[in-house]
This record gives sequence, structure tokens and C-alpha cells, in this order.
Amino acid sequence: MRNSMINAKRIVVKIGSSSLTHKESGDLDYRKLEQLVRVLSDLKSKGKEIILVSSGAQAVGRKALNLQSIPVEMPKKQALAAIGQAKLMMTYQRLFSEYNQTVAQVLLTKHTMFKEESRMNAKNTFNELLAMGVIPIVNENDTVATHEIEFGDNDHLSAYVLAMVEAELLIILSDIDGFYTDDPSENPDAKLIEYVEKISNDHRLMGKETSSSSVGTGGMSAKIEAGIIVNNYGADMILASGNNLDILYDIIEGKNVGTFFKGHANESFDIDDYL
Ligand code: ADP
Repeated sequence: MRNSMINAKRIVVKIGSSSLTHKESGDLDYRKLEQLVRVLSDLKSKGKEIILVSSGAQAVGRKALNLQSIPVEMPKKQALAAIGQAKLMMTYQRLFSEYNQTVAQVLLTKHTMFKEESRMNAKNTFNELLAMGVIPIVNENDTVATHEIEFGDNDHLSAYVLAMVEAELLIILSDIDGFYTDDPSENPDAKLIEYVEKISNDHRLMGKETSSSSVGTGGMSAKIEAGIIVNNYGADMILASGNNLDILYDIIEGKNVGTFFKGHANESFDIDDYL
């Protein structure tokens, strides 16, 4: 049993594009989205504070323009994200309102994190939203982020958000059911690791950069790096499959699903060391 899961009150949930879109078409998987919204609304009713970090904006933008694939050029990608983000939020808003939940869009850039003042502003906004009973839905502000100042992937973004809002748990929902000794798509002998007491260099080497899906960005290495931030901050991280989102119930009931990365509060933790 993972008791700390049961007591976690403030939770950041990150879901990757590959868990929100159909493999074949790259379009939004509405059944998944509905399930995600239902379960998160339910967790909120149980008294949890939820912050959702959601990818998928570019995929939605691509669909809106009926493009066959996501273009490689940065301005085009950013344009798709701008179109898609609004549509994605509209969808979330509609679905969450069915469960009487109000959501808010929070778009962040790395600049927000660099400056103490803007970080405090963002933190205060998050706290206010949560106090109002709202579910913040976070994404990187792709429209303005440039290569040098981008978070790059929502795994890192989620870890920074967790530290900023002082959450107790990060749940990363991915297209894989946990962290393995090697990339299972390359190595059939890779074994699932259920519990990581402390992320070591060996773990960093096990988590490959490659993303198995065409829509995922961070790969496993980004998730492990996110785990280092989260664990050093003192919060726990769970990496689990986003295939059936009822898994969120199992996670907060402390069941052994996915991989659990244990948090170790570090008195001298300073987010600036990780930017
Ligand atoms: P998402 O889009 O859900 O964020 P990614 O595609 O970025 O997911 O990352 C998950 C993928 O990382 C897995 O499907 C797997 O192929 C790959 N991977 C690389 N190394 C590992 C590892 N050690 N354990 C599990 N998966 C790994």
C-alpha cells in the first residue's frame, strides 16, 4: 500500500498527447477525454485539489485545419497550437461543466519561472483558483515560447508547476504502464520497476529520450528528469498508463499500479537549480 497517495490533497495530473488522441488518426479521443474529465471531477468531489497539465493543442489545431500531419516549421506549429489550445479548452470547459466544474486556462512560459516576481504571481493565481474550487488546466504557451526559453515538454512543466503550487503528488499518465529497466519497445526483456526509492544515474540511463509515439515529445528521460525535481522538492511521482483513466482511482487509493517514485524533502531545494 502506498499510504502517502491516500493522504495527498493537492495533485498535479499530467496527460500526454498520445493518451488523448487516436493512434490511427491523431484526432482527439473523446471517450478518453470524457473519462478523464469524469474521474477528475469525481476526485475533486472527494476533496482533492486538481491541477491538470494537458497536451493536445497542436493535435486539435491540426484537425481544425484538416492537415494530414503536424508541420515541422516552428511558426506553423505555434499557429496550430494557438488554434488548438482554444478549441481544446472549449472541449474541456464543455465536458467539465457537465459535472458542474469550472476550469481555468493557465499558459506558462519558462520566463514565468525565471523571475521571482512572475513566479509569485503565477503561484498566487493558482492558489486563488484552487481556493475558488476551480480546476486549472495548464499548458506551455507555445505561441510565444522560443527554443531557448521553452519548457520543451509538459513533463518538465508539470514538475515546475508542482513545486510552484506546493503539491504533494504528480501523476504522469503515459502510453506506457510504468518505468522499465529499458525501453520495452526496443527491448523485450525490459522489466517493470514498481518502486524507485531514489532516482539514480542508472535510472537516468534506463529512461530513453526516444518517444515511441509520433505525438509524444518528452520520452522517458523527460519523465525521469521531472521525477528528480518532484522528488527533491519532497513530493511523490507516479508514472502510470493513461489507457484506462479509472487508474486514477487506484492511484489515490494507494494501490500498486505503475511506478512510484518516492519524494525526499530537501531543505535546500531551490527551483532555480533546475531551470
Ligand atoms: P507521452 O506522450 O505519454 O508523454 P512518450 O512517448 O513521451 O509518452 O514516452 C513514453 C515512451 O517512452 C514509452 O512508450 C516507451 O517506448 C519509451 N521509453 C523509453 N525508455 C523507457 C523506459 N525505461 N521505460 C518505459 N518506457 C520507456
